[in-house]
Amino acid sequence: MHEWALAKSVIDTILNIEEGDDIATIIEVVVGIGELQDIAEDIFKEAVDDIKLNTPLKNVKFTYEIIPAVLKCNNCGHEWLYRDSVDKLTDEEKENIHFIPETVHIYIHCPVCNSVDFDAIKGRGVFIEEIRKTH
Ligand SMILES: [Zn+2]
Repeated sequence: MHEWALAKSVIDTILNIEEGDDIATIIEVVVGIGELQDIAEDIFKEAVDDIKLNTPLKNVKFTYEIIPAVLKCNNCGHEWLYRDSVDKLTDEEKENIHFIPETVHIYIHCPVCNSVDFDAIKGRGVFIEEIRKTH
């Protein structure tokens, strides 16, 4: 699965941003995971823990934050939380979206103008939220 590739790119990104002595001062890295990112969290965390052992980041603590998805209507410009729409769905509908993400436009529409023409402007991907250091 792509969890390992994602974990490797997270580690590589940190090693690219930070250099030399700075790496030794890192105590914690907060990794943001977009709510819509299709990822097995457990496998991803395991992969990070495994890959970091062979890098200067081996003693760094990794914590994870789920970033809520934000949808934006292309018709009226309204922005709303993906979660607010999902809360109104039945369990079956939620399941359909989970397995076939493209069906999201069948079940969710803009709460203001009813348009199904919207995009996720936040909530995809995996990225470095924060790098905490000793000083
Ligand atoms: Zn709208």
